[in-house]
Amino acid sequence: MPAIQCSAGCGSRAQLKRPKTGDALCKECFYFAFETEVHFTIVKAKLFNRGDYVAIGASGGKDSTVLAYIMKTLNDRYDYGLKLVLLSIDEGITGYRDDSLETVKRNRDQYEIPLKILSYEDLYGWTMDKIVAQVGLKNNCTFCGVFRRQALDRGAMQLGVNKIVTGHNADDIAETVIMNILRGDIARLQRCTAITTGSDADGAIPRCKPFKYTYEKEIVMYAYFKQLDYFSTECIYSPNAYRGYARSYIKEVEKIRASAIIDIIHSGENLSITDKAKSRMPTQGTCKECGYISSQDTCKACVMLTGLNKGLPQLGIGKSSKHKKTLNQLQEENKEVNGIKNSEQTNLLQSAPR
Ligand code: SF4
Ligand code: ZN
Ligand code: ZN
Repeated sequence: MPAIQCSAGCGSRAQLKRPKTGDALCKECFYFAFETEVHFTIVKAKLFNRGDYVAIGASGGKDSTVLAYIMKTLNDRYDYGLKLVLLSIDEGITGYRDDSLETVKRNRDQYEIPLKILSYEDLYGWTMDKIVAQVGLKNNCTFCGVFRRQALDRGAMQLGVNKIVTGHNADDIAETVIMNILRGDIARLQRCTAITTGSDADGAIPRCKPFKYTYEKEIVMYAYFKQLDYFSTECIYSPNAYRGYARSYIKEVEKIRASAIIDIIHSGENLSITDKAKSRMPTQGTCKECGYISSQDTCKACVMLTGLNKGLPQLGIGKSSKHKKTLNQLQEENKEVNGIKNSEQTNLLQSAPR
């Protein structure tokens, strides 16, 4: 049987079938197609300006490892003029994050990009190991997600970067669209497809997703053929069942029609949201406890931390309004304990290490 030729017309033999398009390509033409698509995404969405200082959220997993490699490659090839730094969060998960951070440290040396690591232990006084010991394996990812989001912001502020890029890929975004449909969360349904969230105007460091249109299967294929050094073990505390259902659904649909992933993202992008739904989106302000960005008086991380420190971990789960009363009561108690009678805003968390 004659060898199949690369459909890009380079004259070489095809070595793979591209998951996104089904094209038979040689490795070199696949690399070029993959990299160029990310470059076009970056240019079209005007993600960066010359001179930007960009933190790459790095976990050591395939997405962020490929992102770090691609950011370096494109920055050099197209002379974006960016200064890059790797930013990692150590959630304190023994047997998982400690090993994956070793991978990030090797990536730092391989790609010659400096690395900053921040830990939950230092920021909040809690590791995920300790949190799971207290809250069990049901809501642990909610704590972890809220803390990570803020930790990335804190790290970015400490570094003085003006953009953060994350390795969220097309499959992740399509999954989030499906999850928001299942929850009936119309306002988030549209916002979750945004390539950049947060802006200087609302006091947040913008976060971008250069892999918004990049398929997970292609990221794996790219990492595999390029022999990039990444960590592939799943988190030992990852029972996120709800996302798991959305994930399996996307994978099933992809098998039947690969373009479904992009089509789901386009559906979210093209929704027009009524003003009523938009008005339900919280406006950004700052947390009165920690000063970081928040849509409530007290940010979710601070509410959760109060719950953990007071032995009431369910405080931060679910609708924040439900827990406002409990939180206020705790704040009142705290005032009495500290003998502070008239202080308007007692910092409940002042004893917690940050
Ligand atoms: Fe954190 Fe859950 Fe992700 Fe593990 S799976 S790192 S606990 S969010
Ligand atoms: Zn080729
Ligand atoms: Zn706060």
